[in-house]
Amino acid sequence: MNVQSDVNIGLVGHVDHGKTTLTKALSGVWTDTHSEETKRGISIRLGYADIEFRKCPNCDEPECYTTSKTCENCGSETELVRKVSFVDAPGHETLMATMLSGAAIMDGAVLVIAANEECPQPQTKEHLMALDVIGVKDVIVVQNKIDIVSHERAIESYEEIKDFVKGTCAEDAPIIPVSAQQGANIDILIEAMLKKIKAPERSFEKSALMHVARSFDINKPGSGADKIKGGVIGGTLVQGTLKIGDSIEIRPGISNNNEWINLTSEIIGLEANGEDVDEVGPGGLIGVATKLDPSLTKADSLSGSVAGEVGTLPDVLFELEMEDHLLDRVVGTKEERDVAPIKLKEPLMINCGTTTTIGVVTATKKNTVKVNLKLPVCASPGDRIALSRRVGARWRLIGYGIIV
Ligand code: GDP
Ligand code: MG
Repeated sequence: MNVQSDVNIGLVGHVDHGKTTLTKALSGVWTDTHSEETKRGISIRLGYADIEFRKCPNCDEPECYTTSKTCENCGSETELVRKVSFVDAPGHETLMATMLSGAAIMDGAVLVIAANEECPQPQTKEHLMALDVIGVKDVIVVQNKIDIVSHERAIESYEEIKDFVKGTCAEDAPIIPVSAQQGANIDILIEAMLKKIKAPERSFEKSALMHVARSFDINKPGSGADKIKGGVIGGTLVQGTLKIGDSIEIRPGISNNNEWINLTSEIIGLEANGEDVDEVGPGGLIGVATKLDPSLTKADSLSGSVAGEVGTLPDVLFELEMEDHLLDRVVGTKEERDVAPIKLKEPLMINCGTTTTIGVVTATKKNTVKVNLKLPVCASPGDRIALSRRVGARWRLIGYGIIV
C-alpha cells in the first residue's frame, strides 16, 4: 500500500474544547513518531500528525476500529484501512489567519464542541463559517467532554448543536459524543471519518501544484560546510506528482528590495508520512528537500508560496479582481454585527491557498472588488479566497471572493 495519506482532516473548534487531546487520543501509540520527525527535521510540525485507521478482522463494527496495531478487545493483529493526515488548527481567535491557511489544505474536518459549554462559542461559529467559506464539505461534529456532563446536559448540548449547524455545511454531519480524555467512542469516530470523509478526486496527470505551508533550514548550528543540507519545504500537493531529480520552481518566492524572485532548484529528497520516498502524489503532507541555499528557506520564509514544475505555475498577482460573497453577520465575537459592504481604500486580510496577505481596496463595483496586494499571491481565476476585515482589534471573517 502507498505510504502516503489519502486525505487531510482538520481539527477545528473553540479553544480548550479538546482538539489537541483528541489528536493524541487518535494517534495513540504513535505519539513517538513526532520525536522521530523532529530528529529528521523534514516534517510539518505545526499541529500535524499522520495516523493509521486500522480494523480488527475478528471484531464487529464499530469496536473493530482502532489506530492500534493490536486489537484492544481481542488482541488480534489489526489491518491497515487508510492513512490520514491530521491538521490541528489553533482555536484562539488571534490565530484565524493560521486557521484559514490550514483550512486551505483540509479535505474534511472534525469540529470539536465541548458539551459542558453552551453552543456555539465564538470560534466554534467562526471555524464552521470558515469551513463553509473555504468549501470544506465533509464535516463531522464531535461532542466532546461527555464524561463531565449529566445525561440531561448531554441531550441539551446535542439540541444546541443541531440548532447551530442548521443551514451550514455541517447540517447533516454526524454528531458523535466522545471523551477525548478517557478515549470513549474513538472507535465510532474512526468509523464515521472512514465513511463520511471521502478522498477528493485527485489528478495525478496534471502538472504538480504544491501549497507550501512550512519551510526550514534543517542544519544544526556549526555544521561543517561539507555536511550542509539544502533548503526543505513542507506542504501539500493538490495535483500532479513530484519525483527525486525533478526541477522545481517556487513562486512568488522571496522578496529582495520589493522585487520578487522566484526560486528554481532540484528535488534531492522526498518524505511522506515520515518515510523517504522517490515520488509523491496528492494527499497528506509532504516534505521536499532541495538544493536551495538553506538561508532562503529558514523560518517558514516560503510559506504561502506554491511550488511545481518550472514554467507551469499560475501567474504572480500583485492585484486581484474578485467576485465578492459576503456573510450576513460578522461572527467570532460575543456581539455580532451586520457585515457592511466593502469600502474603497479599506484594508482586507486575504487568505488564498496558504498565503496570508493584506489587500487594499482600489475599486468596488456591484459584485466585484479590486485590491492591491502587500504581498503578491500565485493564483488562478476561479480560485477561492477568504476575506476578513478589521473589526475592533481583530481580523474577522466577512466572506469569500472568487478570482475573476
Ligand atoms: P484545544 O485548545 O481544543 O486543543 O484543547 P485541549 O485538547 O488542549 O484541551 C483543553 C483542556 O480540556 C485540557 O485540560 C484537556 O485535558 C481537557 N479535555 C480535553 N478533552 C477532554 C474530555 O474529553 N474530557 C475532559 N474531562 N476533559 C477534556
Ligand atoms: Mg490545541
